[in-house]
Amino acid sequence: MTKALSLVFLQALVVCPIANMDKIKINEIFHSIQGETSYTGQRTVFVRTSGCHLRCNYCDTTYAYYEGNKKTIDEIIDRVNSYQVEYVCVSGGEPLLQKGTYKLMKELCDLGYKVSLETSGDIDCKDVDLRVKKIIDIKTPDSGEADTFNLNNLEYRDNFTEYKFVICSEKDFLWAEDFVDKHKLLEKNNVLYSPSYGKISERWLAEQIVEKKSKVRLQLQLHKYIWPSAERGV
Ligand code: SF4
Repeated sequence: MTKALSLVFLQALVVCPIANMDKIKINEIFHSIQGETSYTGQRTVFVRTSGCHLRCNYCDTTYAYYEGNKKTIDEIIDRVNSYQVEYVCVSGGEPLLQKGTYKLMKELCDLGYKVSLETSGDIDCKDVDLRVKKIIDIKTPDSGEADTFNLNNLEYRDNFTEYKFVICSEKDFLWAEDFVDKHKLLEKNNVLYSPSYGKISERWLAEQIVEKKSKVRLQLQLHKYIWPSAERGV
């Protein structure tokens, strides 16, 4: 190869989107217990990606907005393998902002891992591998990110996908009930209501669900009860 040609080849590698897909900016990878969703209680490896384009006012992972290091998919998978788990949760930040996340999830599924994705609901999940369990947020009026939900994400009317609302107020509760009813979410999907920490109590939300005879599930973040003072890595 001539010197000029090898330079072109090197430049192509630097800008080639496929090559870039092999690296993902990762905030943290840790081994813990799943504290949310129908997988609650399972030993899990969490892969937390860096970066989020939203700013929910209850966000408890603000440290993931910018912090992180780029890792290859092979490096991430090697780390996951070291924990000897069956289940991997890909979370953020917003994992779908990085193209490499799609490939990572596919490769984890190919390796036989049970994989779930926690996503903000704003980005269309159409390119996510169908073997991945999607936990899709629907942002409420008082979240600070109202009206960001991508309605295409209502496509996944299967009993595998779960929809999650973080409830910040009575207004949010009533709005969520209306949304669930209007879109008939409970016909096929698991629907989770989680109280926004410090804004409403678990008890208040539990009593609302009982009083209104709602069919959703109350979700408490188990890891926050087990490790109340830990802000990361649980
Ligand atoms: S979508 Fe998630 S990570 Fe992003 S700001 Fe909202 S709670 Fe935080």
